[in-house]
Amino acid sequence: MAAPDRYAVVGNPISHSKSPRIHTLFAAQTGEDITYEALLAPLDGFAAAVRDFIAAGGRGMNVTVPFKEEAFRLAHRLTERARTAGAVNTLSFACDEILGDNTDGAGLVRDISANLGVAIAGQRVLLLGAGGAARGVILPLLAERPIVLIIANRTADKAYDLASKFPGTSGSGFADLAGQSFDLVINATSAGLANAELPLPAGLFAPGCLAYDMVYGKETPFLEQARAAGAKGADGLGMLVEQAAESFFVWRGIRPRTDAVREMLRRP
Ligand code: NDP
Repeated sequence: MAAPDRYAVVGNPISHSKSPRIHTLFAAQTGEDITYEALLAPLDGFAAAVRDFIAAGGRGMNVTVPFKEEAFRLAHRLTERARTAGAVNTLSFACDEILGDNTDGAGLVRDISANLGVAIAGQRVLLLGAGGAARGVILPLLAERPIVLIIANRTADKAYDLASKFPGTSGSGFADLAGQSFDLVINATSAGLANAELPLPAGLFAPGCLAYDMVYGKETPFLEQARAAGAKGADGLGMLVEQAAESFFVWRGIRPRTDAVREMLRRP
């Protein structure tokens, strides 16, 4: 009998990663014969860790903090969504070639539109943050045709710079948002990890607004602010599971169901 195909997530740190659990659940659900492990790479040893995994028969890898930009540079070929994101979270190995993809934006859009039932088309959308996570979701968000997509960041110059690369968006500082309101506000900053509140002007959340924080597993100050202003709130766990499902689809050609997996991860 053939050995199972090997996959892994590589990062530093990595012990907190939920990806092995998610992909093991996907494999059980779809009957795909795979193994999926977590690999800790030294901060200066990402490329070596990938090459060792390929040499050991690995078929693909997810890449997490802090290696997504290095994975972008290591890939021989990139999908369009990886190229525009400037970062890679999914590597596939075949025919001596490393293919880089980025499934984060697809995961976010699917969670918002399919799971939370919120259409992005025709909506006023605000994206908070201008780091790798923000950059990775801009093109998939634009593909949904919002009427407005504003990128706002604490360091406003980074938001202006990012917006200049994506026609159809505009950049802003937080204070400049005063007087505007949005139907969908996506927090792609890491502020919630440190329980930091964002200095957002009042009136930002339009009636019926969805406030989405990419940070998952906790009620962040951003979600508290949004709920206090009457918005609906969602954390990033759904995005995490959906980007994993998209990676699984890239590797195996099968799209796993995500609802039960999301439920399982929510249980304490
Ligand atoms: P980066 O380090 O690249 O960027 C961090 C961003 O957060 C910058 O825009 C930074 O602003 C901003 N920021 C950090 N602290 C504060 C603060 N106290 N107040 C205001 N702004 C702040 O991180 P990433 O873009 O890679 O990741 C962002 C978050 O997204 C992470 O928390 C990560 O966990 C989450 N994420 C979730 C995913 C999921 O599947 N749910 C997938 C990918 C990411 P400045 O430029 O001014 O420093």
